Parts: sequence; structure tokens; C-alpha cells
Amino acid sequence: MFNQREYAARQRERYRAEGLCVYCGSRAVIHGRTYCIRCQNSHVASQRRMRVRRVAAGLCATCGDAPLTEGYVTCPACREKARLYQRARKAGKAASGA
Ligand SMILES: [Zn+2]
Ligand SMILES: [Zn+2]
Repeated sequence: MFNQREYAARQRERYRAEGLCVYCGSRAVIHGRTYCIRCQNSHVASQRRMRVRRVAAGLCATCGDAPLTEGYVTCPACREKARLYQRARKAGKAASGA
């Protein structure tokens, strides 16, 4: 049976292997990424639009599920997640380098 999702995943794998953008499959990727500059820009732009819409609706810019905290653009859960992520990143850097 034809599996759309599996087909898409396989296609992405092929693009990745060939160093092509996994979104459009027609341009070379940015070094160390899986997408090209064009797709990155449009992705960033759409993310930004979505964040603006969420905040305007009084919702967390990150998850869009919870109401945001006054003075912030994110909910407490997302801020906590971001904090842990930053800490993990710092810890990872310290462990791997220097
Ligand atoms: Zn692309
Ligand atoms: Zn959130």
C-alpha cells in the first residue's frame, strides 16, 4: 500500500544524503542544516507571523495553548522549558569543550 508519510520521509532522507534542502529538494543546504536559505527564511517568517498572532490573542507565543503571563510573550511552562534547555546547552558546552 502506498504510504504518503513514509514516502515523504524517504524523500527527505534522500535529499539529506545528497546535501539538498529537505523542504524544496532543489537547493543546497546551509552548512550544518537540512534546509536551504530560502526555506529557512520562509520558515522563520511564518513562525514569526504565528507568534505575533498568538501573542495578539493573549496566548503563549511558543506553544499557543496556554495564556501568556503578563509582561512576557510565553506561558510559565514554556519559560521553564526554555530555562532548562538553556541550562542543558550550557552544561553540554562546558562538558564538550575547553
Ligand atoms: Zn529549500
Ligand atoms: Zn507555552
